[in-house]
Amino acid sequence: MLQLYVPLNFLGVLYREIKQSLADMEKLFSLLEQNKEVADQENAQALQISEQQGAAIRFEAVNFSYESKRQILFDVDFTIPAGSTTAVVGHSGSGKSTLSRLLFRFYDIQSGSIQIQDRDIRSYTQSSLRNAIGIVPQDTVLFNDSIAYNIAYGRPDASHEEVVAAAKAAFIHDFVESLPDGYQTTVGERGLKLSGGEKQRVAIARTLLKNPAILIFDEATSALDSHSEQMIQAQIKEIARSRTSLVIAHRLSTIVDAQQILVMDQGRIIERGTHQQLLEQRGKYAQMWERQQSGMADDTDDVGAAEDE
Ligand code: ADP
Ligand code: MG
Repeated sequence: MLQLYVPLNFLGVLYREIKQSLADMEKLFSLLEQNKEVADQENAQALQISEQQGAAIRFEAVNFSYESKRQILFDVDFTIPAGSTTAVVGHSGSGKSTLSRLLFRFYDIQSGSIQIQDRDIRSYTQSSLRNAIGIVPQDTVLFNDSIAYNIAYGRPDASHEEVVAAAKAAFIHDFVESLPDGYQTTVGERGLKLSGGEKQRVAIARTLLKNPAILIFDEATSALDSHSEQMIQAQIKEIARSRTSLVIAHRLSTIVDAQQILVMDQGRIIERGTHQQLLEQRGKYAQMWERQQSGMADDTDDVGAAEDE
């Protein structure tokens, strides 16, 4: 550990980058205790979520800025009932991923409250909070280590059988078996580079193994072929079924079943409802939907780009 305290500037940069990609929170937070911006309260309690009840999530009048000059979220207010799925849509930069960073408590908010089970997340220990949440991030960063390690690190005590079962459920087992060293193949920057879809499946396997009560899925914008996309979507639905889930969606077709859809624009929720209700409102969501249906835009970011022009 001693060595870690020396290159603090370097770690600061690394820390921010990793925070940004929501990649490796558990590991990073244990490494970087010294450098954290949020701290446990003295009387912080462990968050415990019962299997029957699940965990309701509530954002209450949340205002947030990363830097003092520029506010990012404005009075964001919503509830995700325990065991249900809420999807968030809106174009690039509207604040979607920020919601997931805040729920994970990478940053503390300036005003308002974020609650799980009716208590502010600041009253829980960070470790128990982060244990309860599984994230499939937009862009998974892999460790330069074996693929088995990369799948298991959310739960390092997992047996090889459990790792394999998770990999099968995430449709990556056959691929792993086809590699020369199988589960011992080194991946990451200095090892075998995986495609976006493969990395995302590793993240899904990781999340399955972790088996969290709360799931955040930040949908990748980029090129998954449509077959992989469909398989991953089916998988996500399966994982999300019994959990409280926040799904950040680019393709609206993937979230039509969500119990609640929030439409974000410049840090505010501008519309909310089910897919059907939002279509009937004939607002922004209905516009995005029409565009995507007509094939004019592949995802909501494209809609944003088109409108910004
Ligand atoms: P989305 O996921 O909807 O594309 P984000 O939540 O990632 O949007 O970002 C919302 C806004 O916050 C953007 O304007 C982005 O530039 C800004 N932002 C994101 N991360 C940081 C950060 N670490 N520091 C300062 N600004 C940030
Ligand atoms: Mg994002």
